[in-house]
Amino acid sequence: MTKRGPKPGLFTILTELIGQKFGPNNQLEVLAVNPPIACRQRTMKVHCAECAKDPEMFGDGIYNFNAVSVKNKSAICGCNSRYAFSEAQNVVGSHGCVKKGA
Ligand SMILES: [Zn+2]
Repeated sequence: MTKRGPKPGLFTILTELIGQKFGPNNQLEVLAVNPPIACRQRTMKVHCAECAKDPEMFGDGIYNFNAVSVKNKSAICGCNSRYAFSEAQNVVGSHGCVKKGA
């Protein structure tokens, strides 16, 4: 069965975001584009320098955000005052859709 991937060019666009910073304090840095996952939602690995300062709350400060929200620079992490439960939709790492590491 052949599945159609993301439109040609999207991966390139996302890859070009690697290394860019965004967020209210430029605290979010794009680390990598994750491979497509079972839920077929492209995600990107983003590090938050502010969240990383509070490992008890936010662990290593690395999030897997929906690629679209990263591209639109609208991804919201734990240290953002606008972070709310509804925004959890943007963070797929927390409910098992994306497994970190192994
Ligand atoms: Zn943060």
